[in-house]
Amino acid sequence: MHVYAIGLRTRFRRITVREGVLVRGDAGWGEFSPFWDYDAAESAAWWRAAREAADLGLPAPVRDRVPVNVTVPAVGPDAARRIVLASGGCTTAKVKVAEPGQGAAEEADRLAAVREALGPSGAIRIDANAGWDVDTAVERVRALDRAARGLEYVEQPVASVDDLARVRRAVSVPVAADESIRRAEDPMAVVRAGAADVVVLKVQPLGGVRACLDLAEQVGLPVVVSSAIESSVGLAAGVALAAALPELPYACGLATAQLLTGDVTAAPLLPVDGALSVAAARAVAPDPERLAATAADPATVARWTERVAAVRAVAA
Ligand SMILES: [Mg+2]
Repeated sequence: MHVYAIGLRTRFRRITVREGVLVRGDAGWGEFSPFWDYDAAESAAWWRAAREAADLGLPAPVRDRVPVNVTVPAVGPDAARRIVLASGGCTTAKVKVAEPGQGAAEEADRLAAVREALGPSGAIRIDANAGWDVDTAVERVRALDRAARGLEYVEQPVASVDDLARVRRAVSVPVAADESIRRAEDPMAVVRAGAADVVVLKVQPLGGVRACLDLAEQVGLPVVVSSAIESSVGLAAGVALAAALPELPYACGLATAQLLTGDVTAAPLLPVDGALSVAAARAVAPDPERLAATAADPATVARWTERVAAVRAVAA
């Protein structure tokens, strides 16, 4: 077991350092890196995902590359433009919106800058992380659709499934469900309510690649695979899911190695020509020098050791 702590280039989910545990099994390496607001019970799925990768290995791919989006945090227009231009050829951008303390004008400026950097044929999606109420969502989605000169979809504009369905009926932009799937007791509620056009699946919170493949089949909607901003070990499991899905109509949110200031491997999973290589993902292995450079301090190691023990107790 190795505990890593790696800086984030931009604050995300109110954190500036990403921490996690890498575990090694007979089949390879797995990653366990639930955010600290997940308790032991909710982290059990993350643990199953880590053990799946380490003990069982990852399912066989049906494609050899996975198109990915560049992620643009809630930054100003100049930074947004730079991030898109430095993305490794991504033609899809996911732009964070509904950041506390920011208004409609800042979001519209960010969207316009991203459109300018991507060009007219690029795809732009926004992610509000459930930060709006229904009225604000409807108003902002319409305004940002204009500012972006067309949105591909809006991800989780509001928190509840019912509200998601309300927003979806009110706007012409497609709606994607993320938190409503991964933190829900019943992911199928989204489908029954007609609340989404697209679902976002994340390997760790949903308990592993095979669990996600089963869920994708049940849901029957187009899937976008996204990361939980993991090291390249965790990202490799996301790539395995994206590579194994029967259909993959959208770019995935797996180009997040670029959000970190370091990685556990000398060959981080970064996009080339807007896509991640499935072969490169299957070859990801931590290297001793990078493990040493990203090793967490003893207090952090102690906290994670305790956390793993708590999760294993729940899982047992
Ligand atoms: Mg999201």
